[in-house]
Amino acid sequence: MQQSRGHAIPISSPWQYGLIVGLFYFATAYGSLALTQGSGDIAAIWPASGVALAALLLAGSQRRYGALGGIGLASLAANMLAGTPFITSAAFTLANLLEVTVISGLMILVSPKWNQFHTLRTNIVFFAAIVVGGVASASTATLLAGASSLAFFVSWFTTVVLGALIVTPLLLTVIFRLNAKSVMPSAFRIVQFGALLNLIVVGSLAILLLDAYYMLFIPLLGVVIATYAYGPTGAALSISAIAFTMAGSVEVTNNSNYVLGLNLQLLGLQFYLLCLLGAAWPLTALLIEKERLIRRYGETNASLELAERTAHVGHWFVGTGTDAPIWSDEVYRIHGLELNPNSRTGLKDIAESNSLQLYHRDDRERVRGILLEAMRDAAPFEYKARIVRPDGSIRHVHSIGRPHHNRRGEYDGLFGTLHDVTDHTEVLEKLNEAKSEALHEAAEAKRLSETDDLTGISNRRKIMAFLEDAASNAANGQNPLCIGIVDVDHFKSVNDQFGHAVGDMVLKRVAEIIQVVFGEKSHVGRLGGEEFLIVLPNIDDRAGIALLKLLCARIACEPWAEGGPETITVSAGLAQLGSEGDVSAALKAADNALYAAKNSGRNAVRHAGTASQGDETRPPVQAQINSVA
Ligand code: GH3
Ligand code: MG
Ligand code: MG
Repeated sequence: MQQSRGHAIPISSPWQYGLIVGLFYFATAYGSLALTQGSGDIAAIWPASGVALAALLLAGSQRRYGALGGIGLASLAANMLAGTPFITSAAFTLANLLEVTVISGLMILVSPKWNQFHTLRTNIVFFAAIVVGGVASASTATLLAGASSLAFFVSWFTTVVLGALIVTPLLLTVIFRLNAKSVMPSAFRIVQFGALLNLIVVGSLAILLLDAYYMLFIPLLGVVIATYAYGPTGAALSISAIAFTMAGSVEVTNNSNYVLGLNLQLLGLQFYLLCLLGAAWPLTALLIEKERLIRRYGETNASLELAERTAHVGHWFVGTGTDAPIWSDEVYRIHGLELNPNSRTGLKDIAESNSLQLYHRDDRERVRGILLEAMRDAAPFEYKARIVRPDGSIRHVHSIGRPHHNRRGEYDGLFGTLHDVTDHTEVLEKLNEAKSEALHEAAEAKRLSETDDLTGISNRRKIMAFLEDAASNAANGQNPLCIGIVDVDHFKSVNDQFGHAVGDMVLKRVAEIIQVVFGEKSHVGRLGGEEFLIVLPNIDDRAGIALLKLLCARIACEPWAEGGPETITVSAGLAQLGSEGDVSAALKAADNALYAAKNSGRNAVRHAGTASQGDETRPPVQAQINSVA
């Protein structure tokens, strides 16, 4: 009974709704009146009350007046047709209308969720409202009909109350069931239920006819069984069946046992029906609640499944003292194990007893270690590992978990999530690859941009940058810094005589020799053409001059291959960085010194400070050859 009121019956027009309700009401009311016609009594129960109340509760605000109109007209017609005078019929009709208006009004007012019959609150409100409505209706009928007898009041009250109590839940249950599109019971179950109902009806009839009232517990047992086996519908139908059977038989067995004008047998029957209701009601409420919880559990579970599927996160549990985990469906999916509902058990066996075996060989022992430790210490854990699917593909998973405690607070296992992070990991791996590739390319580009193509040593840009750095370091630390410029003598004629390729070869070899002579403490670069710059940090000009002389001597005795020059010589100028650290001044000074060396006849070294003093620094070539070679 979960539907919102007003939508359980799919008729939106108030007129149509009123017509249908009126027809139903008329059939029930006229039927009851006809049934009790001969007895000169009113019915044991007045089911029309139940029809009217259910109709009004389901009407909602738009169809309320339609329903009231239908009920009013039907009540008037049924009473008059049964021979009741118009005035009295009108009075009864008014009482009927007042009753259902009061009951439904109270229910909706006090408890907007009036249809939640699984709660105690709704049931209490339902019962109380019916009693209040019954009193209002009985008073009105008694006063207006001029009956003014206690017997009339009590009869009216009890029949109305029973009618509403028994028939309203029956109708609501059936309508809500139909509306909820719940699964149709199997034909076998329907037949079974029909048989049970028949037994109950026949039993009830037999008890009444044979006056075997001590057997009245049997229909009660029938109601309990019907309720347990068939739920709210079973309860409502079985009680209704007993009610109508017995109410219909009252006139047969009427022995007119009256006290204070009240038919005792009728009262007893009514009280008995109330007892049946009282016995079935709690069970029904429990069953409704159970159904509701199961449905909710199903819905929650479905949502969880959907969430896990969408996020590729599964969950698992492994109890202490067992190594077979329980997996959620998504964990199976992550492992690439198809979920076939028919062979689910077999699959479970395969997967769970070998769950660690499904990890990649290289990760298996690590995962086992982490899990064993977490299990032993009842501690949280986390790991990333690879699993291998049956088709051989590899998935990356990330598991986070914590110790699980049962309701008594005792540690009973590990609970973990399993997240398929393959896509994420692959993207990260690709990013990392791309990053290191880019870094490598950038480094290579930088190296190329700083390297002289021909000789493989630093190009002009690099050596000048190095000089700037070295100069600022030297100026800060007051350390000496020398620079030497080396130029190949008459290089143009090498090109002219032996060709450009030989010229290139000479340049390469000269660069090599410069590096050999100056070693790692200095830095050598090609300024352009056949000119080289040597930066000598932490070396004073005396040592610098000595090294340059050594270089000249070494190159002068370099043997050249056939088809090349016989000898190559170089000239060099040296300058020391001034205390003000002016790099351009030092370069200019070194260049001037080189110019002086050239002027002195080449194959010579000049110091910037002594550049004008003739050629006394010309290196003693032969003397130094051996020490360098
Ligand atoms: P000096 O003794 O006065 O230095 O005379 P030089 O001939 O060495 O000087 P000059 O500046 O007249 O000639 C330098 C030549 O170097 C001119 C140019 O063709 C050549 N050259 C410049 N770069 C390269 C190169 O990369 N490879 C070759 N093979 N020759 C080059
Ligand atoms: Mg030159
Ligand atoms: Mg030259």
